Amino acid sequence: MEIKTVGVLTSGGDAPGMNAAIRSVVRYGLSRGFKMVGVERGYHGLLRGEFLDLDASSVCDLIQRGGTVLQTARSKQFATPEGIAQAVEVAKEKGIDALVVIGGDGSFRGAQKLSENGLPTIGIPGTIDNDISCTEYTIGYDTALNTAMEAVDKVRDTATSHQRCSLIEVMGRNAGYIAIEVALATGAEMVLVPEKDRACPRVELVNRIVDDIKIGQAVGKKHHIVIIAEGVGGSQELAEMIEECTGVETRATVLGHIQRGGSPTIHDRVVAAQMGMKAIDLLSEGKSNRVVIIKNGQLSDMDINEGLAMQKTVSDFDYRLVGNLSRGMWNS
Ligand code: ATP
Repeated sequence: MEIKTVGVLTSGGDAPGMNAAIRSVVRYGLSRGFKMVGVERGYHGLLRGEFLDLDASSVCDLIQRGGTVLQTARSKQFATPEGIAQAVEVAKEKGIDALVVIGGDGSFRGAQKLSENGLPTIGIPGTIDNDISCTEYTIGYDTALNTAMEAVDKVRDTATSHQRCSLIEVMGRNAGYIAIEVALATGAEMVLVPEKDRACPRVELVNRIVDDIKIGQAVGKKHHIVIIAEGVGGSQELAEMIEECTGVETRATVLGHIQRGGSPTIHDRVVAAQMGMKAIDLLSEGKSNRVVIIKNGQLSDMDINEGLAMQKTVSDFDYRLVGNLSRGMWNS
C-alpha cells in the first residue's frame, strides 16, 4: 500500500527532546512528499480522532522546548483488542496510512499491535529512564541526568555546610540508570537502585548506610550523599531511621518531576533529529513494526517484537564504582 499521510504522536511519560523529534519527523516527512498529521494526547487522542494537519511552520520554535506540544497520555481503553481495532479504524477514516510513535516500552507494545492490525507503525524511543532494552539511548535521558546532577550539586553544598546526611531520590520506578550515573557524576557516597536494593529489608539498608557514614566520618567526610532511585522507595522513612541510629542530621529530598522538564541538551536534540529522519526513511522503504535504535553508538533499527523481548540491566561495575570511589577503597 502506498503511504501518503503519516501521523505522529507522543505517548507515555513526556521527555525533553520529544519536540525536537516531532520537528524532525514532520519536516523530513514533508520533504519526502508525505502529508503530515499530528495526533494529540497519544493513543487517547488517536481513539478520538484528535488530529491536526502539520506543515513546516507548525513545528517552528519547538526544538529548544521541553515537554511535548502534541501532549501525551496513558490510555487503558486503547490497550484492549477493541481499542486497537477502533484506533486503526479512526486512523484509516481520517486518511492516516502510517504512524510514528515517540515513547517508551508500553507505547511500543501499542505500536506493535497497530502494525499487526494493518496500520504500519515505527517507534522512536523517548523516555528519560533509558530503560528500553533494545537501544543504548532514549531521547530525554541526557537532559534528565543533567537536571538531576545540577540539583544534587546544590543539595551537596548545603549538606557539606551542615555536615548532614542527604538522601536524594531521583526518577526510575523500575530502572536505576539515572541513579547510578548521577551518583557517579556527583561523587555520591552510595547509590540504591530497584534492580539490586528494592527487595532488601529496610533494616539492612539502614545498617549499610550507617556503616558507610562511620567510614566517612573516620576519614573526615563532611557530608554523606546517598542517591536513591524512586523504585526503591521510602526515602523519608530511611532518613528518620538513619538519624535515629547515628545522631547525624539526615534529610530526604525528592527531586520528582523537575527531572522531566526543561530545555533538551544538545545530545537529546541531535539524537532526536537523527531518529526522526530514520523513522521516515523506514516508512519510505515500506517497512513497518520497526523501532529506531542506537547500537554500538550508531543509528540503526530493529523489529519491535524482537526489541521488546530483549532484557538489559544496570552495570554492576558502575554500581560498585560509586562506593569504591567514595571510600577510595577498591572492592571488586
Ligand atoms: P514511559 O517509559 O515514559 O512510562 P511508556 O511508553 O512505557 O513510557 P506506558 O504508560 O507504559 O508508557 O504506555 C503508554 C501507552 O501505551 C499506554 O497508556 C497504553 O495505551 C499503551 N500500551 C501499553 N502497553 C500496551 C499493550 N500491552 N498493548 C497495547 N497498548 C499498550
